[in-house]
Amino acid sequence: MTEQMKFSVVCSLFTWMQRSKSLAKKRSKFRKFLDTFCNPRDYFTAIRLVLPNLDRERGTYGLKESVLATCLIDALGMSRDSQDALRLLNWRKGGTQAGANAGNFSLVAAEVLQCRQGMASGGLTIKDINDLLDRLSSSENRAEKTSVLSTLINKTNAQEMKWIIMIILKDLKLGISEKSIFHEFHPDAEDLFNVTCDLKLVCEKLRDRTQRHNRQDIEIGKAVRPQLAMRVTDATAAWKKLHGKEVVVECKFDGDRIQIHKNLTEIHFFSRNFLDHSEYGHGMLDIIVQNVLVDRCILDGEMLVWDTSLNRFAEFGSNQEIAKAVKDGLDSDRQLCYVAFDILYVGDTSIIHQSLKERHELLQKVVKPLKGRLEILVPNGGLDLNTHCLSGEPCWSLIAHNVDDVERFFKETIENRDEGIVLKDLGSKWEPSDRTGKWLKLKPEYIRAGSDLDVLIIGGYYGSGRRGGEVAQFLVGIAELPAPNTYPRRFLSFSRVGTGLSDDELDAVVTKLKPYFRKYEYPRQQPPSFYQVTNNSKERPDVWIDSPEKSIILSITSDIRTIRSEVFAAPYSLRFPRIDRVRYEKPWHECLDVQSFVELVHSSNGT
Ligand code: ATP
Repeated sequence: MTEQMKFSVVCSLFTWMQRSKSLAKKRSKFRKFLDTFCNPRDYFTAIRLVLPNLDRERGTYGLKESVLATCLIDALGMSRDSQDALRLLNWRKGGTQAGANAGNFSLVAAEVLQCRQGMASGGLTIKDINDLLDRLSSSENRAEKTSVLSTLINKTNAQEMKWIIMIILKDLKLGISEKSIFHEFHPDAEDLFNVTCDLKLVCEKLRDRTQRHNRQDIEIGKAVRPQLAMRVTDATAAWKKLHGKEVVVECKFDGDRIQIHKNLTEIHFFSRNFLDHSEYGHGMLDIIVQNVLVDRCILDGEMLVWDTSLNRFAEFGSNQEIAKAVKDGLDSDRQLCYVAFDILYVGDTSIIHQSLKERHELLQKVVKPLKGRLEILVPNGGLDLNTHCLSGEPCWSLIAHNVDDVERFFKETIENRDEGIVLKDLGSKWEPSDRTGKWLKLKPEYIRAGSDLDVLIIGGYYGSGRRGGEVAQFLVGIAELPAPNTYPRRFLSFSRVGTGLSDDELDAVVTKLKPYFRKYEYPRQQPPSFYQVTNNSKERPDVWIDSPEKSIILSITSDIRTIRSEVFAAPYSLRFPRIDRVRYEKPWHECLDVQSFVELVHSSNGT
């Protein structure tokens, strides 16, 4: 049986695949592994370790790098202050701490484990590994997780433990795509996975590579990989791409992509990574039962939060919070609201092969909208923009007759502070996992905020991967308004920004600032007194600039939308910040001040 295979065999496969340069070699190693070591009656036991990010049989581990570091430190019985513990905790940092592998957690961990574990394999089978990983995912607290990790450490060597850590982090970095792995396994594996999101089923159904599998349609109760949108740079490019097609433009809502599967009273809320968000049931179950007028269907759409006091959608990021508040019976003027923009299944039939236009018609028949709770997104019968503007109601979808319609709709969604627009070919069918351009997205990412935002670098964050061990992003601040004819004395943290500069430009800034980096050790050390920051852990930089006078001003551009900030000390932050240029010539004290910035935000919001 496959499950009796030694885990060391899987580790050798991973090592070979990682080392092989060409894709063909990687694929042939994988094929050899399947043919030599696996029993076709039980491929799943092995393949779930090769594609850990697609395995939904066990729940999540709740172990991102920082928690995993603490659990490993405890499992190894190390003191938290020890050199090795600091290497794990500061795995992103270079220098004396994480060392040459900075930025790659599993390699840093493997180094730490090297001198603590024996060389010999403990001889665990892949069944043993799967059982222990099951225990790890089902354990409820850190102490239990630590105890499972300690068992794993005792029974493996450092190489094996490195791969286990990569499996836990769900990223093996083998340099081969999931598509190629599927393809080598069976020519129909990807298709079947796309419509079922069920790796176990794929392994069980496709045991014989020479036997083709009839194309399977979607089913209620099984998540399906969503149709996706291709990015375009402007309205003209979008219009050109959809030339000659009947086109609908829709608002791009900024929530969670959720598929609702309704089978009488059994309702699932599947997210993009096929997790079932049953917590949404607390606010939505009755509404789906009552306002979705058929017993069985699959809806595709976005889960958002509706603010009843403002009568509009709330800003992104509070879905889970609201679901929890509803569950706990807490009153709030915010509620979950589902916007259905497509329908994939009705009664006993999949309708993904019908045109979007036909699906819209069905959507209107099947879903009875309920203001602020359940909305449908279908074009407003071809009304033109003027008519809709006069009505005063925001319009979320309309049929575009020319590129000007698209431009105007785009402009309007930006003014309404929405995320952008999606253009869809009304004649197209819905295709799982497709991103070939039947849907196009246009986002206002880098529109200037009216004037330059000149902000001061006050801290830095280490990067990962290629930029591991080097500062790769900056914490920038804006000045507290100084008294007349004086220089600013304090800076409020404002945004975290990393994109926009070339590697050389970034290196130049980092090299200039390096002498002034002061490492920030948590939680003991306070930030320098001239910086005002929050306690939010998402903000904490790895280094501070130890005197603002030595720092550098960056010009930032951004989506014109700003967001109210709880992460940073300034009242607003930027949605998609990007460094436009480095202002070496501009003295530090000419940095933007909070008051001017708030005025800018208010004037761009029209408040
Ligand atoms: P992004 O970060 O831009 O959302 P993405 O990779 O998450 O990109 P894309 O395929 O690029 O996903 O864009 C489609 C996503 O946009 C959908 O997954 C969905 O969550 C969201 N969306 C919002 N409004 C719509 C809409 N009207 N039609 C389709 N998708 C929409």
